[in-house]
Amino acid sequence: MFNKRIRIKDLLASDKANYEATVMGWVRTFRNNQFIALNDGSTNNNVQIVATLGQFDEALLKRLTTGACIKATGEVIPSLGKGQKVELKATTIEILGDSDAETFPMQPKKHSLEFLRENAHMRFRTNTFGSVFRVRHALAFAIHKFFNDKGFLYLHTPIITASDAEGAGEMFKVTALPLDGTAPKNEDGTINFATDFFGRSTNLTVSGQLEGELAAMAFSDIYTFGPTFRAENSNTTRHLAEFWMIEPEVAFNDLEDNANLAEDFIKYVIKHAMEFNKDDLEFLALRLEEEEKQKPQTERSEMGLLEKLKFVVDNDFERLTYTEAIEILRESNYNKKKKFQYPVTGWGMDLQSEHERYLVEKHFKKPVILMNYPKEIKAFYMRQNDDGTTVAAMDILAPGIGEIVGGSQREERMDKLTQRMEEMHIPAEEFWWYLDTRKFGSCPHAGFGLGFERLVQFVTGMGNIRDVIPFPRYPKSAEF
Ligand code: ATP
Ligand code: MN
Repeated sequence: MFNKRIRIKDLLASDKANYEATVMGWVRTFRNNQFIALNDGSTNNNVQIVATLGQFDEALLKRLTTGACIKATGEVIPSLGKGQKVELKATTIEILGDSDAETFPMQPKKHSLEFLRENAHMRFRTNTFGSVFRVRHALAFAIHKFFNDKGFLYLHTPIITASDAEGAGEMFKVTALPLDGTAPKNEDGTINFATDFFGRSTNLTVSGQLEGELAAMAFSDIYTFGPTFRAENSNTTRHLAEFWMIEPEVAFNDLEDNANLAEDFIKYVIKHAMEFNKDDLEFLALRLEEEEKQKPQTERSEMGLLEKLKFVVDNDFERLTYTEAIEILRESNYNKKKKFQYPVTGWGMDLQSEHERYLVEKHFKKPVILMNYPKEIKAFYMRQNDDGTTVAAMDILAPGIGEIVGGSQREERMDKLTQRMEEMHIPAEEFWWYLDTRKFGSCPHAGFGLGFERLVQFVTGMGNIRDVIPFPRYPKSAEF
């Protein structure tokens, strides 16, 4: 058996000394021809390995370059150096993989996030991305734990879908037809998808909600957690073409139940990360503090990362209606001084990200749940309120991010639903299976979608969504 190593995190966590151990990992630095800082990704803290002078071949020492992978065995001893309780006094060092010091991209110095994005295949080996992806993992785990403990069923919804009228965003086409112009055509010159793999035109999913609703009408409480795709050309710090979404769908929930679930859920997963990823969050908080120092005073956030997370966990989200939000925005000094790029035209307008961020960051200074939007700016499946003008929608807005959750109570009444579909020119026959739930045992139900990367952004304090997913997909970029 080759792998008898101890994880560096476990080795460093214990005071225990004077025992033999093997560690494996990647060299971060090697100094004074004697001290190796080794990292295996279990923590940002490196273990110091002492290669006592004179005990190892010069040829071997030369190969201890940044990035090289090694196996070291020796005695764990109390450390005299600061910042660590123990270190490893090596008796044997084996090079598992050399790393050319000249060309290894991750030099032991500060790299820009842009540079690291271009070297996403190697950026896992930096402290920043080590922390980001350990936190991402912890959040994913906490999500499953939250729902599992509540008795929800994890539903896998399809990635290839035929419905394209949902309106959540632009879709990527899926086809097995040749793209060289020889695909069979209809008389009007359009591609004849009847000849395609699925016998119809198909896309990558933008949301698992509609299928989620079908399952909620049997299991009561379900959630999805899977990849979704949007071919929207938004080159922002909050949009990806491929992102992961969590979509609970709950029978018997109304809009308030839905908001309660979303708020509990967000607090729970943040609390989990704060408990189990303390070191990583502390590191990321320092990183953010450094980054903020580059900004003008007025643009700096008032709270540090850890403070902000604690604040979110400890305080109720602000809840208000869309109508109230429009009033606040209209009356704001910001609006009066024409500081918004998109002026607040009044009731009925769709909120831009700058408006959402004003409400959250300037006005309430906490997460906000906006409810009851005009039906014209929301999807067909949202439940119509008695006022005839709004629907039971809710968006949750988070500081620094804007929209993090979009959800609603769903229209469970067949007549109201089909009437809305007609108004919005959505072909009912394409959705026969969806409408069947309203025909056979319909019930009040609600759900929401939370963009996983926006949550990871929020918890890690990373400014760009491209830095919280291992290999980001965005316009003009699908490297790796
Ligand atoms: P936005 O207005 O920010 O584009 P949306 O209204 O299109 O969001 P929904 O369709 O409600 O978003 O999707 C649910 C959630 O998925 C959003 O609240 C957000 O967290 C996330 N999300 C939406 N689009 C993207 C994207 N392109 N990249 C990453 N996350 C996204
Ligand atoms: Mn969008």
